[in-house]
Amino acid sequence: MAATARNTDLLARNAQVLRSRINRYGIMGLVIALLTIVTASLVASLQITGEITLEGILYARQHNFTLRILDFLPFAFAFWGQYTSTLMAYQASALIVEQTDDLRAETTEWKRKSLHDATHDILTGLPNRVLFYDRLRQELLVAGRENRRIAVLFIDLDGFKKINDAFGHDQGDLVLKEVTARLRRSGSGTQTVARMGGDEFAVLLTETATVDEAREWARGARRMLESPFTLSRGPAESSVSIGIAYFPDHGSDPDTLIQRSEAAMIAARGRHDGVAVYANELDADNPRRVTLLGDLRRAIEQDLLDLHYQPKVDLRTQEVVSVEALMRWSHPTFGRVSPGEFITLAEGSRLIRPLTQWSINRAARDLEQWQKDGLTLGMAINFSARTLDDPKLPDLLARPMSVLGENPERLTLEVTESSIMEDPRRTIEILRRLKAMKFRLSIDDFGTGYSSLAYLSKLPVSEMKIDKSFVMNMKQNKDDRTIVKATIDLGHNLGLCVVAEGVETADVLHLLKEDGCDIAQGYFISPPLANLDFLAWLRESPWKPKRLRPLEAAKPSITSPF
Ligand code: C2E
Ligand code: MG
Ligand code: MG
Repeated sequence: MAATARNTDLLARNAQVLRSRINRYGIMGLVIALLTIVTASLVASLQITGEITLEGILYARQHNFTLRILDFLPFAFAFWGQYTSTLMAYQASALIVEQTDDLRAETTEWKRKSLHDATHDILTGLPNRVLFYDRLRQELLVAGRENRRIAVLFIDLDGFKKINDAFGHDQGDLVLKEVTARLRRSGSGTQTVARMGGDEFAVLLTETATVDEAREWARGARRMLESPFTLSRGPAESSVSIGIAYFPDHGSDPDTLIQRSEAAMIAARGRHDGVAVYANELDADNPRRVTLLGDLRRAIEQDLLDLHYQPKVDLRTQEVVSVEALMRWSHPTFGRVSPGEFITLAEGSRLIRPLTQWSINRAARDLEQWQKDGLTLGMAINFSARTLDDPKLPDLLARPMSVLGENPERLTLEVTESSIMEDPRRTIEILRRLKAMKFRLSIDDFGTGYSSLAYLSKLPVSEMKIDKSFVMNMKQNKDDRTIVKATIDLGHNLGLCVVAEGVETADVLHLLKEDGCDIAQGYFISPPLANLDFLAWLRESPWKPKRLRPLEAAKPSITSPF
């Protein structure tokens, strides 16, 4: 409404401006016409009577036909001025109306598209994890009221990775599209099919009254999905595992139902028919997992996690240019739980969002304090691919954005190569949006994710981190050294800053410098340290902090490790 009023206002103002400008031209024409009449009368009087007198002018005006005609000139100009101004104002109005309509249509389309993109998978067009949760939540409300049962099916293509590796990502994409088409064909209208990530799909059946019916549906879908896919380089097949969880038997909220259908899917992998219905024993197999998930939720809420910082140093200037933030969790019973374990757990549930939010806020808080103390360092935060799916991603980054102000590029977001390659097209799109927000992006654990060079060159990243498994042994293992060297060259050819992680010895550090690596990170320089320990390390370390005003004065003389 407000926009329409604004547009109408704009239109009226533009029409006014045009009309008054044309009127001015009309008035100028009028003046010229009057001057012409006066001059012509004077000349005619001079010609006819030989002098310029009032009688002469009157006489000439009475007897000269041309002068009479000239008398019509002001009317013609006035009419012309008025006519053209009206015409142009009308045309301008029509143009503005047309443009406003176009703009309105574009805005509506853009809004629709961005909502669609945030809730749908780009490759297959299916609802994504976010929308699936939402639909499931709504269906649960209705089913609860109507006393109905709902089945959640979790589907995994066990052999998809092999198809991707053997046939290439483009062919892998075709397989995912074909799976989508087959899943759509395999059911009635009472289902929602969603892509949960990589090769995982979920189906929501709202009208299967018994477990047997759902199991039968799953077997039929599995038969369809396991028939060969026709690819350009020959046929390909993948085995399929399907897990089923039921409302209200196995849970009454989306988190629990999806988690349990996934647990059933894992159990289904070992069965000959590839289908399993959730049973409590599945969780009993893994009590640690269930306990950890519950405790992790509490740990986030009660701020019981910690962030440790590991420096990244510039091999040319020997400066600490930034730090990588790594999450730490000390569990009251299990002791230190590795991020590998609890982050994977969180990724399987919706805890990954609050967990990521926690790490971003803590990193922003520490960064702000360092800035106040005169320490200007870059900060790298690890980002799970699951978080990239979050439509509210920009909100998650609001706090570091305000802390960094004019320098958002001081925040690097590390995303692992393998998670990018799970769904490269969608990820590239999201990374582009983050890049537009001016954050630096980095491909983490490079060398473990089977990137295709075609995608690699399209990634809007600034940094490539060579996985530590190649770096750690590059002194002893010639193949690793060759891989590291080739990766450094590849990174440089793509215009990227190359970081080596897992630098454990001085020898490896020297080799990396020799091979032209830009940045190094590893236990040899420093392990990840708690905030205060890191600041203490920085004071004592032979590596110069990039800019550390108050601490610098107190620092002893710096000796280079080279
Ligand atoms: P990453 O991002 O590749 O982090 C580097 C890992 O290598 C860290 O393990 C670090 O402690 C370890 N590391 C560093 N230098 C050396 C070295 O010289 N030798 C060896 N052997 N290891 C070294 P960490 O802290 O256990 O983290 C494991 C992974 O968990 C990280 O790998 C990252 O992918 C993930 N992670 C950690 N914190 C977060 C987080 O806040 N959010 C997300 N999404 N993922 C995180
Ligand atoms: Mg990392
Ligand atoms: Mg890494």
